[in-house]
Amino acid sequence: MTESDTRLEALRSDIRRFFAEEYPQDLLARLKADETLQREDHLRSQAALASRGWGAPHWPKAHGGPGWSLAERRLFEDEYVRAGAPTVVPMGLIYVAPIIIAFGTAEQQQRWLPDILAGRSFWAQGYSEPHAGSDLAALSTRARRDGDDYIVTGRKTWTSLGFWADWIFCLVRTGEAARGGAGISFLCIEIASPGVTVRPIIAIDGQPHLAEVTFDNVRVPAANLIGEEGQGWSYSKQLLSNERIWYAHIEEKRQALRRVRAILAEQPIADTPEFRRRLGEAEIAVSCLAGFVERALQEGGDSVASLIKILATETAQAITELFLDLVGGLAAPLITERGTNWQSALPDLPDFIVPAVEDYLITRAQSIYGGTNEIQKTIIARSVMAL
Ligand SMILES: Cc1cc2nc3c(=O)[nH]c(=O)nc-3n(C[C@H](O)[C@H](O)[C@H](O)COP(=O)(O)OP(=O)(O)OC[C@H]3O[C@@H](n4cnc5c(N)ncnc54)[C@H](O)[C@@H]3O)c2cc1C
Repeated sequence: MTESDTRLEALRSDIRRFFAEEYPQDLLARLKADETLQREDHLRSQAALASRGWGAPHWPKAHGGPGWSLAERRLFEDEYVRAGAPTVVPMGLIYVAPIIIAFGTAEQQQRWLPDILAGRSFWAQGYSEPHAGSDLAALSTRARRDGDDYIVTGRKTWTSLGFWADWIFCLVRTGEAARGGAGISFLCIEIASPGVTVRPIIAIDGQPHLAEVTFDNVRVPAANLIGEEGQGWSYSKQLLSNERIWYAHIEEKRQALRRVRAILAEQPIADTPEFRRRLGEAEIAVSCLAGFVERALQEGGDSVASLIKILATETAQAITELFLDLVGGLAAPLITERGTNWQSALPDLPDFIVPAVEDYLITRAQSIYGGTNEIQKTIIARSVMAL
């Protein structure tokens, strides 16, 4: 065993001990029972990780990251998923924080990063609008300068967990141009500001995951502008690249595929050569995904991020289809019962069935959010043709 192997093994036992003894056990138990966690649960999880110095594995040490190598980060992700801890809600920690670190002022970093790290604030992403999704540069939410403030008017939509948010980072139009990347700025807005209204949108699985956020003459301090006015488009693209790499969720996929194999062993009727072929393909796709993520973390690049987004989405959807096939004919009555308490309506089903159907439904959205898969293909094509 090399010195670095010994260090990794020591870290592994430390992380296992943390999840077995220090991390909130009730959260793990509720996730195991397929309960949906709420805002305070996610904040409590983040606070527990931060108290151990592991709240932001990918942040620089100067801002509270643990200073881990890629191997240490991989190991942590592996143990995190193995422990059954909740998928991190990414809008604060993964999306906006690296942009604040790269382009924010020292005052902004001091103001926002410690709260994100310690699980004291919840963020949402305000990019899409009713007429600006794939064509994001057509956005029309306007921020007009008025002394030391901006006055913001407009409407954001499909805002994930918008009703949990304390803050929303928004792309807003500050320049004269009616469309296009020029004149777009990156502004952080406190949800409690007068004039902000958040309305829930019910998603395909019957849950209010999404929101519409409207801004009616909202006064926002100019001190909340990240970087330079009019440069928000370039920051937003960097954020989207990070977002698309984040979708890989490699260890979660490996864990899900192990579960498919375990259920398959108990359901010989589903064990066909065709099923095994699809299972094998999904396992190979996860290995490829791991290779792409490694490359993206080392070299960066928008087209690798787009490739990861497509492969991650297709693989996630393929895995939910494997689960759904295991559910078989039992799934049909569940779909017609959408929006009701399925488990109590049909109490005698194996415990993986309800989450399998919910996951299948909600994972359809993955080819849309973060920029649709068609748009990712255009980004890749542009990059290939420019070579
Ligand atoms: C579950 C979920 C969560 C989301 N969370 C957020 C969030 O937190 N914050 C946020 O800002 N947004 C969020 N979104 C919005 C998401 O980013 C947009 O829905 C997405 O970018 C697509 O935009 P659109 O819905 O306007 O569809 P459109 O842009 O109208 O696209 C409709 C269809 O046309 C295709 N299409 C459009 N243009 C082209 C083209 N040029 N070439 C080829 N095909 C094209 C698309 O691929 C798609 O299939 C979320 C969406 C979903 C479903």
